[in-house]
Amino acid sequence: MIKQLTLAKYSIGMGDRFAHQAKAQLQACLKAAANGAEVIPVWNKSNREHTIIGSEPSSTRAAADAAVKELGWQRPYHLDADHIRLETVDRFIPHCDFYTIDVADSIGKPADPQAVHAFVERHSELIGEILIPNIDRPLAISCGDIQRIAAKYLLAVQDAGKICRHIAKAKGEGNFITEVSMDETDSPQTPPELLVILAALADEKIPLQTIAPKFTGRFNKGVDYVGDLGQFEKEFREDLAVIACATKRYGLPANLKLSVHSGSDKFSIYAPIRRGLARFNAGLHLKTAGTTWLEEVIGLAEAGGDGLALAKEIYSTALDHIDELCAPYATVIDIDRGKLPSKETVNGWTSTQFVSALRHDPKNTAFNMNLRQLLHVGFKIAAKKGERYLEALKKHEAVIAKNVTENLYERHLKPLFTPIPGP
Ligand SMILES: [Zn+2]
Repeated sequence: MIKQLTLAKYSIGMGDRFAHQAKAQLQACLKAAANGAEVIPVWNKSNREHTIIGSEPSSTRAAADAAVKELGWQRPYHLDADHIRLETVDRFIPHCDFYTIDVADSIGKPADPQAVHAFVERHSELIGEILIPNIDRPLAISCGDIQRIAAKYLLAVQDAGKICRHIAKAKGEGNFITEVSMDETDSPQTPPELLVILAALADEKIPLQTIAPKFTGRFNKGVDYVGDLGQFEKEFREDLAVIACATKRYGLPANLKLSVHSGSDKFSIYAPIRRGLARFNAGLHLKTAGTTWLEEVIGLAEAGGDGLALAKEIYSTALDHIDELCAPYATVIDIDRGKLPSKETVNGWTSTQFVSALRHDPKNTAFNMNLRQLLHVGFKIAAKKGERYLEALKKHEAVIAKNVTENLYERHLKPLFTPIPGP
């Protein structure tokens, strides 16, 4: 048996766009550990982020290793090649031990009819009334349903297999963690769809440890969830039930868990997620990314002086380039342009005013979710400033680090993972 690199029960994906906050991020995991929750850090950066910034995966590795060494972190940590495909995976291979294989583009593209036929033949157990423990009603799946689902997803699953084997060839089997993501697609996967997908992923012998389905509702970048919380909770629990059942049935890795690609800061679903995890004794990978970059801007603004001036400059340049910045993220942002403050207004702001508008505190009436989303997708502006931006990060490290750690711990790790003290 090959020894498999295994992802722990609870893990947090963190994005560090400019590779300067790994230490402050890891501090949040240390704080969680000190408060009774082991949450394993995973530094994720997608090909898209690397391309926009002009960075290489080696910089993420260097920053993570340095942070771990400096803070004496004794537990595992990982580096996630986020949302990769066959064409983009190679430059991540020397540096990453976690691969998020994104097959969303192949969903809905017709699979080979013979492969679909063979799948249906092989999986007659999926036809009929399927009893899934902890789902109220049995899933009624007809032969036609399986055919339809397999036709929609089989090509995507085969792609995942190809990419996974490509990585295994380069890194050696068992030396990496595999996630398959299907979140960047039009509609959420239903429980029968997820069951069929998991059976097909098992057929491909993918050592799947996390899966990122698409959930109901809007997951806009850097702001709270928009949608029906009751419906989310129901779907989240159904996903947990299907995963628990499929893991046993199809011999998938026993630690297989859900990965929630949160787009950062989906505070209102944390309580439903927490209840679901407790009910199923399930693990979770929570992926965040841009929330840390926004804490950099908050820290700069809080520092005042040249820090505040730079934060204002980033906002006003972002306003000038709003169309270009928003285009790659069109499906995951909802910016009401009429509610964006003008450059003149922002240029007149104090530190407190800038921070109040940007910091994700829904209770603060000065919080502006439109400004927050624009800055979330505006990291390219900071990247273009090059050394000047990085120098500012160094100069104002203390105030930025405090914001980065506090945000990850207080707003994410604590509500999701740390034990709730008794009365
Ligand atoms: Zn995603």
